[in-house]
Amino acid sequence: MRQLPEADRDAIRIAQDPMFVRWLEQITATGGCSHPVHLTGSTTTLDGVTGEILHHYDTRHEPGERLLVRCRNRRATVCPTCSRLHAGDTFHLVRAGLTGGKNVPTTVRHRPRLFITLTAPSFGPVHRAGEDRCRPRRDGGTCEHGRPLGCGTFHAPNASMVGQPLCADCYDYSAHVLWHAHAGKLWDRFVIGVRRQLASSAGLVQSRFPAHARLSFARVAEYQKRAAVHVHAIVRLDGPNGPADEPPTWGTAELLIDAVRASARRVLVRTPYSPAVGELALSWGTQVDARQLNTDGDGPGDDAVAAYVAKYVTKGASDTGAGTDYPLTSWGDIELAPVSVQVRTLMTTCWRLGGLPEYEPLRLRAWAHTLGYRGHILTKSRAYSTTYAALRAERAHHMGHVDIPAAITNHHWRYISSGHTSGAALIAVGIAEDLATAREIARDELGSRGRM
Ligand SMILES: [Zn+2]
Ligand SMILES: [Zn+2]
Ligand SMILES: [Zn+2]
Repeated sequence: MRQLPEADRDAIRIAQDPMFVRWLEQITATGGCSHPVHLTGSTTTLDGVTGEILHHYDTRHEPGERLLVRCRNRRATVCPTCSRLHAGDTFHLVRAGLTGGKNVPTTVRHRPRLFITLTAPSFGPVHRAGEDRCRPRRDGGTCEHGRPLGCGTFHAPNASMVGQPLCADCYDYSAHVLWHAHAGKLWDRFVIGVRRQLASSAGLVQSRFPAHARLSFARVAEYQKRAAVHVHAIVRLDGPNGPADEPPTWGTAELLIDAVRASARRVLVRTPYSPAVGELALSWGTQVDARQLNTDGDGPGDDAVAAYVAKYVTKGASDTGAGTDYPLTSWGDIELAPVSVQVRTLMTTCWRLGGLPEYEPLRLRAWAHTLGYRGHILTKSRAYSTTYAALRAERAHHMGHVDIPAAITNHHWRYISSGHTSGAALIAVGIAEDLATAREIARDELGSRGRM
């Protein structure tokens, strides 16, 4: 026993516990989550009318007097199992808004639906990968810091140079992080602008727009090589009551594309005045892509788009190299972060600007690990489709947890800790793998029956 690695000895200790079988059930219920949350507490369900106790559950009878629940982390680097589940939910959530299902009518597939990409503007030239030379310049020339203005190299996509500025002293790091900090506002203004543009093309007073049509979207943020966020979004036009309602006859995909382009061009957000930085006028980059998704619906296009969006939500900042998955709490954290020079400079810029009173509301230090970008990777409007909560409830229902309507439930829960001991982690990984294999077999069987 002494010779065994610590994790194995721990696993054996767990397996010898009289409540091991129940513990295993818990771990299986979390899908083999690698960072489960440990809870203690009880739930009592009372009959709403008679006050009779219908169900009582208490963690006192569980192994270690605790219940393990999923961490629900979306990042594959943090928890592969929960990340896979989250990606699956995202896929269904996005897909339902494109083709219907999950309580969304299938008629949505005939609506004007676009896939759009909005980019950040340039904050200074960076090295580019691709078929062409990076930044060829016939006349050569140098910047005020004596560095070449051009670059005649062909860079491979994974070259470390790619995304790094040609001159770090010319690069506008302040604008870059302030743009990230205002990206949410830029998006909100963009959506307002699209509505406004549609209303004016239809000859409507703006305030009357909601009586005629409704704009729904799901958007996802992605870090580019230069560590600037860009936004992919699905935009759909419905009638005033959302998914169940036909859009007005004037509401065509062409008109929607024009409105998207016009709004992206026009949006302007001003940063608060700062004696150090001044006042910046922030806008979207000039590269705006807006394309119509196929109108006949269930072609491969919709699934591909849904899968594309779902893929992004599993990526943490660390996967793309544009930050870390954990907040940075000191200057020392920034110095130790495993990131490129460009990303580290953006982090220190967040830290520096975050100390200025005029930028306090932007919470740049708290978001230094995401380079000033606050907020969710996936955002959607209310009427777009279903919700993560509804998808989770549906899954719980399939797994046999019964909802009792007209009942009152009292919850008393307390967080104890999270994570696994080394031995428990070993067992959880095994369970996660078994479940993945089982899923693959089920998929193959479905496939051989020609359903996929
Ligand atoms: Zn997890
Ligand atoms: Zn280059
Ligand atoms: Zn320079």
